[in-house]
Amino acid sequence: FVVAVNTGTSALHLALLLADVGRGDEVITPSFNNVADFQAILAVGAKPVFCDIQDENLCIDMVKAEKLVSNKSKAIIVMDYGCMLCNPEQVEKFAQKHGVRVIHDAAHSFGSKYQDRMIGSFSDLCVFSFDPVKNITAIDGGALIVRTKKELKKTHEMRLIGMEQSAAVMYKNQRTWTYDVKRPGFRYHMANLHAAIGLAQLKKMKKITESRRRAARYLTAKLKRITEIILPHTDFEKITPFLYYVRVPAKKRDSFRKHLEGCGIESGIHWQPGHWFTIFKKCTRGDLSVTDRVGSEIVSLPFHSFMSKTTLDRIADAVKSYFI
Ligand SMILES: *Cc1c(COP(=O)(O)O)cnc(C)c1O
Repeated sequence: FVVAVNTGTSALHLALLLADVGRGDEVITPSFNNVADFQAILAVGAKPVFCDIQDENLCIDMVKAEKLVSNKSKAIIVMDYGCMLCNPEQVEKFAQKHGVRVIHDAAHSFGSKYQDRMIGSFSDLCVFSFDPVKNITAIDGGALIVRTKKELKKTHEMRLIGMEQSAAVMYKNQRTWTYDVKRPGFRYHMANLHAAIGLAQLKKMKKITESRRRAARYLTAKLKRITEIILPHTDFEKITPFLYYVRVPAKKRDSFRKHLEGCGIESGIHWQPGHWFTIFKKCTRGDLSVTDRVGSEIVSLPFHSFMSKTTLDRIADAVKSYFI
């Protein structure tokens, strides 16, 4: 069951509440994740426990996660990074073994498939974002996917300041004036105007996916001979790429980004790891050696839907001219 909400961050907040995460509980999350995930954990009064990522796909390292389980662990957040996917079988096994809920942050993987299953169709609790820069946008928006009718009802109430309104009735632009309120709630529903934009975007999904996949493959083909950089380890088959990232030697990152800027090309850093931030410096963590390395190597190149060959050539040539 899909529940549309106003942002990905509120979908994460509701997912944590559904998972019954509260004061004093621990949530295992990759430190290499969006600040939204960390703040959602704080919002329910819980503590993030930072886990490392795998070098080959920059997604959470489930072997290292084993060492972070305690009697306070309530949930684990797994996140598909950029154009890479977590391994759902491994995640499912972990959740069963330790009795924790799984929150799948799929903000980057909307439209992708793991083998033959659409992202969003198999996770315990799955979260999408439709913010201005995601694969599709509602200008602002998000979705939470739940598996049971009971959680669906709870989510419908929580997104509508706790009001027990039937979503089916509200979709007809009607409402009841004699509702009950049984639980805390938030103003998290998706506004009609945003939903209309999201629906129009959704219709373009096939073309968006094709264009992004083509662009990512084109960049890889043009950059793969540069020995000093690491590209995403994927052929993008079944993927709707969100970010196209490169890993450059840490010592060269600043000068590389300056060089791009000099060529009129903006680049980004997704992300600084969570445990680097002042507010999270004292949080529990395991070995984060891969995260620390990747955090100082990662650069995202400009990437969006419907990029022209001219634009892609300009980006690739600017990258090449720094290294070659
Ligand atoms: C964008 C993003 C979010 C937050 O979504 P918003 O809609 O911006 O609130 C959460 N997690 C990840 C991985 C994201 O990229």
